[in-house]
Amino acid sequence: MWYMNEDRKLLQKSFAEFAQKRVRPFAKQLEDEEASPKEILKEMGKLGMFTMPIPEEYTGTGPDYISWGLLLEEVSKESATFGFLTLLRQVFNGPLLKSCSQEQIEKYVIPAINGDIIIGLAGNEPAGGNNLFEYQTKAVKDGDEWVINGGKVLVTQADDVDVFMVIALTRDQIDFRTMEGLDVFFVHTSDPGFSAGHIENKVGLNGSRTGSVYFDNIRVPESDRMPYPMALLMLFGPELSGYGAIALGGCEAMIAKTADYLKKRVQMGRSLWDSYQAARHDLAKLQLDVLNFRNALYGHLMNRNCGIHDSIEAGAVKSACGPLLEKVSSECMLLMGGTGVIHETGIEQYYRDAKALQIACFSDKTFLDNVANSL
Ligand SMILES: Cc1cc2nc3c(=O)[nH]c(=O)nc-3n(C[C@H](O)[C@H](O)[C@H](O)COP(=O)(O)OP(=O)(O)OC[C@H]3O[C@@H](n4cnc5c(N)ncnc54)[C@H](O)[C@@H]3O)c2cc1C
Repeated sequence: MWYMNEDRKLLQKSFAEFAQKRVRPFAKQLEDEEASPKEILKEMGKLGMFTMPIPEEYTGTGPDYISWGLLLEEVSKESATFGFLTLLRQVFNGPLLKSCSQEQIEKYVIPAINGDIIIGLAGNEPAGGNNLFEYQTKAVKDGDEWVINGGKVLVTQADDVDVFMVIALTRDQIDFRTMEGLDVFFVHTSDPGFSAGHIENKVGLNGSRTGSVYFDNIRVPESDRMPYPMALLMLFGPELSGYGAIALGGCEAMIAKTADYLKKRVQMGRSLWDSYQAARHDLAKLQLDVLNFRNALYGHLMNRNCGIHDSIEAGAVKSACGPLLEKVSSECMLLMGGTGVIHETGIEQYYRDAKALQIACFSDKTFLDNVANSL
């Protein structure tokens, strides 16, 4: 592959070994029993897997977005949900370094990078959804503290993180240009006044425990309010291409499984692979789609290595990944016949995950407005 070198090959090998050893045996528990992934996520932090692409002065390994993508790709070959949960760890760290004070970096960001704590984002609200300007959760200053009241919906790991970044109104009016009036606070889930509500039963990404969270007079010190929240509020930016790596890993796993099935499934003394050119070619066409997508994804990540941060390009990768995952899973299911639709085979899960991936973070339709505005 044009973007690989010896270091990245070694990293990819170690990510694959970790995914096969730790994620593969856990994937079923994660999906079917919604078991907590926290322990494995923390283990990944301790192994240094969240240090990409963090600058070295913050315990990072430097800005290599290719390795960042390789980790997501390998993990997602075992479970798209686990890939999604891994992405959330990676996605917050870069913007957090730009949004936090030095004290907050030491208290929250470095522990998150090192796997000591798990941080989530509580933004989306019942009214207005992900539209920041319609949020109703409020933080009111009281001496050296802020008092937060409100609630959020569709929050990942609603009952399974240590700290939430909570977006709240701090003024009656938000300045649309500077976003003043909208602030981000670190809220500990062990704080009095925090509660997690119902965990939704959704179509895919089942183990990611999407649910509601509530804040009832939670008191947060001024030191836990982000001084420069802009980078975090603009999260719908370049980090989102990570969704592409999740889909890529899933597609590769399904194509490999389907090829193996067709080669081993024997009818009238010959494998389906040898008997039916149509089946071989269907799979080959999917492989071409995946190769094209891989080039787009890693081309974008290589641009990021060169300091080019194009949100539209990143959004294009995110937008393309759901339909690709859906197409590959749908066709692989058909190619595997009855076996393909069985839950244990692991293909239909990706089919369902594709829908949830298309909506998580921002829906693809909303993104089209940004593209239109750039014309
Ligand atoms: C699996 C999953 C995990 C999530 N995790 C988190 C999390 O951890 N933290 C968090 O804060 N949120 C989280 N969310 C919420 C997520 O960010 C929102 O669901 C998503 O941004 C879509 O917003 P909405 O649900 O309000 O949809 P709506 O805004 O109600 O959109 C409904 C439809 O209208 C379309 N639409 C809306 N606005 C426009 C527009 N301007 N132009 C064109 N079309 C438009 C949308 O594309 C969509 O098709 C998660 C969601 C999912 C599904």
